[in-house]
Amino acid sequence: MKRIRWEVRCLSPLPVFRYCKKCGEKTEYVCSGRFRINAQRKSLDIWLIYKCRRCEATWNAAVYSRISPQSLDTELLDRFSANDSALAQQYAMDSRFLHQNGAKTKEPSYEIIGEDLSSGAAAEVKIWSRYPLPLRVSAIVRGKLGISREEYDRRVSEGRISGAAGEDLQKCRLGQKITLIFS
Ligand SMILES: [Zn+2]
Repeated sequence: MKRIRWEVRCLSPLPVFRYCKKCGEKTEYVCSGRFRINAQRKSLDIWLIYKCRRCEATWNAAVYSRISPQSLDTELLDRFSANDSALAQQYAMDSRFLHQNGAKTKEPSYEIIGEDLSSGAAAEVKIWSRYPLPLRVSAIVRGKLGISREEYDRRVSEGRISGAAGEDLQKCRLGQKITLIFS
């Protein structure tokens, strides 16, 4: 069977929403790309700083709270100190981290890179993303194949699209990867 890989590539960071006290309503927050570190002898706190898009009020999303300074390796601590952009991006794309901090996220805009699949062709398709994304697999597949919801549902119920691990393809979300069988 033909093997294909599709990469889901985000075109924007995760849009983050939370209540802004200054604005008095829920607003979008934008990642500043900077960390704030508070290091004391016995405890270490690290936050990723966000700013309200409208009023620039800051919000600190807790990365580490009151951990022992010895529990982080020096190299990682240096990356936080240097506002390492890949590290900031990793957190800014992590919906679980943001939800744990009480923020809501929306789906980012994304594109799907990879070989097209001609209609009816049999293939094993691995879909993956560098960051775990709560995107519906159905939306990714429909977008890539250019088919309607009805057509997608029909192919799934006829077993022409199935999850290699028996996933529920009506409901399941990508996370970081999934393998689908097209037959
Ligand atoms: Zn605000």
